[in-house]
Amino acid sequence: MTDEHHPEVLAERLQAVRDGVADAARAAGRAPDEITTIVVTKFHPASLVRDLAALGVRDFGENRHQEAQAKAAEVADLDVHWHFIGQLQRKKARQVRAYASAIHSVDRAELAQALASDDAAIDAFVQVNLTDDPRRGGVAPDGVEALAEQVLATPGLRLRGLMAVAPLDEAARPAFARVRELGELVQRIAPEASALSMGMSHDYRDAILEGATHLRIGTAITGNRPG
Ligand SMILES: *Cc1c(COP(=O)(O)O)cnc(C)c1O
Repeated sequence: MTDEHHPEVLAERLQAVRDGVADAARAAGRAPDEITTIVVTKFHPASLVRDLAALGVRDFGENRHQEAQAKAAEVADLDVHWHFIGQLQRKKARQVRAYASAIHSVDRAELAQALASDDAAIDAFVQVNLTDDPRRGGVAPDGVEALAEQVLATPGLRLRGLMAVAPLDEAARPAFARVRELGELVQRIAPEASALSMGMSHDYRDAILEGATHLRIGTAITGNRPG
């Protein structure tokens, strides 16, 4: 076991983030318990998921299907939720449904169609691309409403709201404010779709100040990713 993954170090980092979330929520005049912290465990072993679950973490995020599927199977005895947060191929969509309770990266109509199912609904977030680079994933802002309508019309998906990653080359807070405004547009057609999945290790405070309901936090809790 490396120091990085020493249980005490992990517990300290988790507590630091919990304190940071509570502090930002207070600053925003919000209740900390309306914010879900998803711990992103990509590249880390399933043993880390066990250690975090023992510390009370219930929500985990992964961005690659094969790794997520294997890890979810290894800890199938735990009562935890898996959030899929990465780009997803259409042909893998049904397999992801088998272990994920939420997909944060619905970025095109074909993917929504591929996720359609008569099974119990899973949560879906429409991912918005805040950059001009299509490789970064997400639908362009002017396509958000149409894709939200598509998700609403898809059996087996429950539209929760929007997801975004802040661009690297501009301040996070105004970018998150744009997501909040787009979310308000979506709520005109789907009032219950009020969730905002935004905020990572380095920008979660700004995200909370702009209304984030779901944070996706990796390194601040897990330490550096191996490899
Ligand atoms: C890896 C990842 C995160 C977590 O990033 P950190 O900077 O480690 O907190 C959040 N969201 C997505 C989509 C990711 O791929």
